[in-house]
Amino acid sequence: YYRFSKALIMLCLTCIVLITQAQSQTWSLLQAPKEITLKLIRDPVTLSLASIDYGHIVHDNPFAIFAPSSISDISLLINFSNSLAIPITIAPRGQAHSVHGQAMTNHGVVVNMTELNGFRNGDGIVVVVDDTTIGPYADVGGEQIWIDVLHATLERGLTPLSWTDYLYLSVGGTLSNAGISGQTFRFGPQISNVHQLDVVTGKGDLVTCSAENNSELFYAVLGGLGQFGIITRARIALGPAPTRVKWLRLLYNDFSAFSGDQEHLISFNGINETNAADYVEGFLLQNQPPLDLSFYPEPDQPRITSLVTQYGIIYVIELVKYYDNSTQEHVDEDVKLLVERLKFFPTFMFEKDVSYEEFLNRVHADELFLRSQGLWDVPHPWLNLFVPASRISDFDEGVFKGIILQQNITAGLVIIYPMNRTKWDDNMSAVTPHDDVFYVVSFLRSTGFDKLEEFKAQNRQILQFCANAGMGIKQYLPQNKTREKWEEQFGPKWKTFKQRKAQFDPNRILSPGQGIFN
Ligand code: FAD
Repeated sequence: YYRFSKALIMLCLTCIVLITQAQSQTWSLLQAPKEITLKLIRDPVTLSLASIDYGHIVHDNPFAIFAPSSISDISLLINFSNSLAIPITIAPRGQAHSVHGQAMTNHGVVVNMTELNGFRNGDGIVVVVDDTTIGPYADVGGEQIWIDVLHATLERGLTPLSWTDYLYLSVGGTLSNAGISGQTFRFGPQISNVHQLDVVTGKGDLVTCSAENNSELFYAVLGGLGQFGIITRARIALGPAPTRVKWLRLLYNDFSAFSGDQEHLISFNGINETNAADYVEGFLLQNQPPLDLSFYPEPDQPRITSLVTQYGIIYVIELVKYYDNSTQEHVDEDVKLLVERLKFFPTFMFEKDVSYEEFLNRVHADELFLRSQGLWDVPHPWLNLFVPASRISDFDEGVFKGIILQQNITAGLVIIYPMNRTKWDDNMSAVTPHDDVFYVVSFLRSTGFDKLEEFKAQNRQILQFCANAGMGIKQYLPQNKTREKWEEQFGPKWKTFKQRKAQFDPNRILSPGQGIFN
């Protein structure tokens, strides 16, 4: 009884402290200089839009949305917060395509980064084609989205080298994580393709940083989950743009043949880099509705369906070779060389020839379809893992063939492909497993609210399985709830991560929705 009463009193006291803090923060914001209050939006519609994200799982109540009309507005807001006895939390929001409240704040201020577009007056993406030191690059506002970066660079015959699968994400948002796709094995994640950044730190200072100047901030911010500063400009490396792509899918039922071939394709073994694939990914075809076979020629769809029915899971390698007028002549030969020793089911190789842009923007077609069905703005209990290559067969046995196959809930889209750790820079905040090769495995589910708890339980089960098996996985786009889990996630990098937080955001005001320091 005594212990229960004590716990109850502690709970009440905590509630009182939290409520008082929230009230005092609210009061403080109303006292802010006019330059700030004029840009705070508090109408219920805007507030409710900023209280959810793509995940539709976490709901927070921000005090206000800040609509900056310049970079110095952001500094002003951060400086004001730091001047308060109890600083206000500040969450930069790119496209809010996070799934677990990472771009949100309770009672604090959400900075709507897209507002900066107005201030840029059409100059949010500046392409430089002839820099003699670093080659072509684009200076891009942190609020810009990758599809616009693609369009602006293609106009000059150039392109970023490393992508995400979906292009309606902000540059600041993906650089705060890593930005990965089928090009990562070759060029590294998007964070490995940045020359320079402008960042407003958690102290309110606008700092230009790179690997040479203010390098501690540069490395902290890349993969830094929004903890150290707000990215307002990124200088992105560019290369010559191809015009078209050969887009292949190869079907396997044997996991070790599938993963062996994937690792062969990313190893450059016996292939020089120009002849290598330009993109390697993979995914599962499962004996579950909806089985999307739209990629494959209609006459082949029945035999693919029966293969999936027979084996339960079919593994698909997705492989791309870029080409243009100058390489058109030998692209078919290049593709033939790439696949000739691969061990997919004979006759189960399918090919499409599409424009470079159509390929890069492929997920947008799915988005439009899902939106038309009312299936886009629904809960997304996603789980993204980095799994060491040395344990990927155990993962297949325990998770794909164990947990997923045996449970009666739709697994959704499961993506799996390997990457080379040498293409990641260990100075950056982003974390990877120790193996030289590791896989990303993404469980990308959409569901109704009625099934949400089942999916969350399955995610916990997968994480527990990996922990029990001592796999040494890392979460990508992590969703940890306790300090211990964050320490585990960062491993030996935790100490540096904490020191950088103390250096660049000592009052812990930025991106509280990640739940690391708040
Ligand atoms: P937000 O959700 O708005 O923000 C993410 C985090 O970054 C938050 O903590 C926020 O506070 C912080 N932040 C936002 N802007 C800034 C800034 N300018 N400076 C500093 N911090 C900032 N990821 C991949 O790597 N590869 C993929 O292929 C991929 N595919 C995806 C497909 C879909 C359909 C979706 C919904 C997501 C996908 N993602 C992928 C995940 C995506 O990269 C991350 O969720 C990313 O954060 C989304 O960008 P955003 O602009 O929506 O960021």
